[in-house]
Amino acid sequence: QTFTTMNVSRPILKGLSNMGFIKPTDIQSRTIPIALLGKDICGGAATGSGKTAAFVIPILERLLYRPRQTASTRVLILCPTRELAAQVHSVASKLGTFTDITFCLCVGGLSVKKQEADLKLKPDVVVATPGRLIDHLRNSMGFGLDSCEILVMDEADRMLEDGFADELGEVIKACPSSRQTMLFSATMTDNVDQLIRMSLRNPVRLFI
Ligand code: AMP
Repeated sequence: QTFTTMNVSRPILKGLSNMGFIKPTDIQSRTIPIALLGKDICGGAATGSGKTAAFVIPILERLLYRPRQTASTRVLILCPTRELAAQVHSVASKLGTFTDITFCLCVGGLSVKKQEADLKLKPDVVVATPGRLIDHLRNSMGFGLDSCEILVMDEADRMLEDGFADELGEVIKACPSSRQTMLFSATMTDNVDQLIRMSLRNPVRLFI
């Protein structure tokens, strides 16, 4: 299995080779084809497995080849910490270098005003921590998730540990039910299982 045989397209292949990603990792070979079919996925994967690119690549493909319906945010990636969100944002921006897809990082510790201005530009992909995202949803001047086509919850177990369960519920409710959802978690606790049952539809379960 290579990125080419998985039907990854030219601009994304260029982004991959720019980052030195030549061969897909195990989780990438297993996740990408299923995610490209639009299926919900829950994956048991730890950091270091290459899971970031595993969900970012199919997201970029979808954005490139499905025309946007309205000018608003199409993908939301939720992460438990600012640091992880910043890493995911960086990987996504690099893989998307040769596309015109736009990205926004939305976490605590950065200026709210600046983020509000960034969100007004309707970035295609928002990478956020739940707390800061909720602030924007509640005080939104035009920012909403009505057009969110893909929702990713990365390190879901940590988000639940950090007490973000209520925020997650609120964010999920703000997304259309027709969305695709991908959830990754290093451990499968009862709380994670409950979140999966609440937010995923007939998920394909991938345990690496
Ligand atoms: P992650 O689990 O997403 O945090 O990725 C772990 C590390 O693997 C990161 O340093 C990535 O840059 C690297 N990586 C991810 N996918 C690949 C790949 N296909 N080939 C080489 N390195 C990769």
